[in-house]
Amino acid sequence: MNSPELPFTARQRLSELALGNTFADLPPSFYTLLNPTPLPSPYLVCGSEAAAALIGLDPDEFSSEDFLQVFSGNAVHAHSKPLAAVYSGHQFGVWAGQLGDGRAILLGEAKAPSEPGGSLELQLKGSGKTPYSRMGDGRAVLRSSIREFLCSEAMAGLGIPTSRALCVIGSDSRVMREMPESTAVVTRMAQSFVRFGSFEHWFYHQHPESLKTLADYVLAQSYPELRDEPHPYKALLREVTRRTAELVAQWQAVGFMHGVLNTDNMSILGITLDYGPFGFMEAYDPAHICNHTDQQGRYSYRMQPRIGEWNCYALGQAMVSLIGDVDEVHQALSIYKPAFDARMAALWQGKLGLRGVMEGDEALLERLLEILATNRVDFPLFFRRLSDLKRDDPGADTPLRDLFMDRPAFDAWSVEYRLRLRQEHSNDTARKLSMDRVNPKYVLRNYLAQTAIEKAQQKDFSEVQRLLKILQHPYDEQPEHDDYATLPPDWAANIEVSCSS
Ligand code: AMP
Ligand code: MG
Repeated sequence: MNSPELPFTARQRLSELALGNTFADLPPSFYTLLNPTPLPSPYLVCGSEAAAALIGLDPDEFSSEDFLQVFSGNAVHAHSKPLAAVYSGHQFGVWAGQLGDGRAILLGEAKAPSEPGGSLELQLKGSGKTPYSRMGDGRAVLRSSIREFLCSEAMAGLGIPTSRALCVIGSDSRVMREMPESTAVVTRMAQSFVRFGSFEHWFYHQHPESLKTLADYVLAQSYPELRDEPHPYKALLREVTRRTAELVAQWQAVGFMHGVLNTDNMSILGITLDYGPFGFMEAYDPAHICNHTDQQGRYSYRMQPRIGEWNCYALGQAMVSLIGDVDEVHQALSIYKPAFDARMAALWQGKLGLRGVMEGDEALLERLLEILATNRVDFPLFFRRLSDLKRDDPGADTPLRDLFMDRPAFDAWSVEYRLRLRQEHSNDTARKLSMDRVNPKYVLRNYLAQTAIEKAQQKDFSEVQRLLKILQHPYDEQPEHDDYATLPPDWAANIEVSCSS
């Protein structure tokens, strides 16, 4: 399940790809037209065939000179109208004022028949300074580009809404971060890169007409079905809020932590956007903070659901004048909690392999999460191994039980769980099948990304390519890659991931 399909049979050359740019039809105050800054001595690090297939691009093009030039930013594709968009946002809960594409350039949109809306925008990230770069150099380092590339495609493999990544192009040129690092450009694809912060921009700058223009654009491009609603703007806020709630529930279920849930990183489509210091939960700790810079833990695992809602409120505030009535705004936002709770409950139920809902299920889950936390049990491994539990044979529990320091705590929980399975006459074989479709065997653990990055920094891209292939099928057994689904090595504890990228 969830293997990236190859839906678009066309295999076009890059030069044949028709690019539109509807965003460029918006008023000039929404963006700045500019070309990417050339990248010296570019080379291909990795391309995603599954992403290319979405826009009907022949993957053989990855090795063409044309591809290298266009996706390094050295050449501008015919029909492309490159631009950087303006937006604002709340960062770490504080109004940050104007931000914008400080290192991203939108090339235009390609046809993508299998995608909602039928098109995908192509955007370079790390392609040089723009008028919105503030103090930044407009570049992205190879390390963060590989992380964004792999995680985008991994999330798609997990079946979680996300921007996609077409390729990473590296360069020997260096920029300064904590130390000098080589630069790269990652090409991202999404139906739209409009953010909550794009709406906030016009609200805080007191441009109600531009706010309306933006809302109408988003409705036409991304939510055409809502235009006939009696209150289209309210319907838009409600739908974005619902999607955001469901997205965060999906993150929680696989242990994904975004790391920088500022409103400028929140997609108006409800997809995962702007991969930075993200992480996947390994040793379970609900207070886990994946972003080294986030000392307060605002974006910790357990905070994500609340922050998702907070961000929707920031969007709602920006939309009050459009919707016309604060009560209507509150009504639209009130979908968040029930939408999150319902999706989250369904996801936990699936993760536990329960077919029905029974009284006591919540308590069963709570007790489980408690012992997972006190024992710092590896989150993906636990749920993957849980599917091997035999309803009537505790003797076969060893690999699962061994994940706990406190084995009696697990034994006590497993008694309750088995009782629950018997209550619904659970069948071991069917349960394993359904659980293995929702509990990934492979996630992008920090150390896996780090290993691939270190090799890539030595110009060996084989590990990036291998990881990409594994992570595109995270629910498949892939026994030849068992060693990618084990506990992290000790050195992994020292990996620090920060906002610096
Ligand atoms: P982020 O937290 O990575 O989503 O970035 C927040 C803002 O900073 C966005 O407006 C980015 O475009 C901008 N930014 C981040 N890194 C750089 C950079 N190296 N050069 C220019 N702008 C940047
Ligand atoms: Mg961002």
